Amino acid sequence: MRTPVIAGNWKMYKTAGESAAFVKEFLPLVAGVRGVEIVLAPPFPSLSVVASLASGTNVGVASQNVHFATEGAYTGEVSPPMVKDAGARYAIIGHSERRQYFAETDDSANRKVKAVLAAGLVPILCLGETLLEREAGKTFEIAGRQLRAGLQGIAAAESRKVVVAYEPVWAIGTGKTATPEQAQEVHAFLRGILKELWGVGAADGVRILYGGSVKPENISDLMSNADIDGALVGGASLKANAFAAIVKFN
Ligand code: PEP
Repeated sequence: MRTPVIAGNWKMYKTAGESAAFVKEFLPLVAGVRGVEIVLAPPFPSLSVVASLASGTNVGVASQNVHFATEGAYTGEVSPPMVKDAGARYAIIGHSERRQYFAETDDSANRKVKAVLAAGLVPILCLGETLLEREAGKTFEIAGRQLRAGLQGIAAAESRKVVVAYEPVWAIGTGKTATPEQAQEVHAFLRGILKELWGVGAADGVRILYGGSVKPENISDLMSNADIDGALVGGASLKANAFAAIVKFN
C-alpha cells in the first residue's frame, strides 16, 4: 500500500520567525500521527530553521523550487544540493505558479526532476489544466503531456522516489475544489500513463497527490478514492490547526 503524503506549500508566506512559531505549534499537534508522510515547504530563508526544529520528528521538509544546475553563475537561484544541505528531503517542481509567473516549462520541470533525483531528494512534480483547458475538453491531453514530459528519461528504478501532484489550476487558491470524482478520474488516468512508462508494479507504488483548495472539510472525501494518495495544500497549510486537521484526515 502507498503511504499517503500530506504536504503544505507555504508559497511566499512566513518569515523565519513566523515559520519557527508555526513548527513549534504544529509538531505537538501531529506528534502521534503514523502512516502519513507529513511535509512542510517553507520559503528558502526558512528551510534551515524549519528543518532543524523538525529534525527527528515525523515531519519532513521540502523546497518550493530548485534550479537544475548543481552550482553556477545563476544569480538568485538555489540548487538541489543547497536545499538538501539546508535540511530538505523533497522539492516541489513545476508548480502552476512557477509555470504561470516564471515561465517554467515541461522541459525545465523535467530537468529539475532529474537534478532533484540526482541530489537524492524526492521530487513532487506538479501538473494540471487551466479552466480554459478543462472547458475545452483538454484536461487529459494537458495533464498527460505534462506528466510524460516531466518524467521523460526517468527510469522505472527511480519511480519509488517520485511523487506526482495533480493540481487543476482553476482549483488553486480559488476555494473551488475538484470533486473527488473529478480528481479520481484524472489520478486514475495519470496512473495509467505511469503503467505505460514504468510497468504496473512501479506505477502502483507512485503517490499521486491532489492539490487545489484542500481543507479540513474536504480531505476525507478526497482521500477515500483509490488513486488519491495525499494532498498538496496551499492556503490551509498556513495555520497549524487547520493543517494538522488535514494531516489527521482519517
Ligand atoms: C498549492 O499551492 O499547491 C495549492 C493547492 O494551494 P491552495 O490549497 O491554496 O489551493
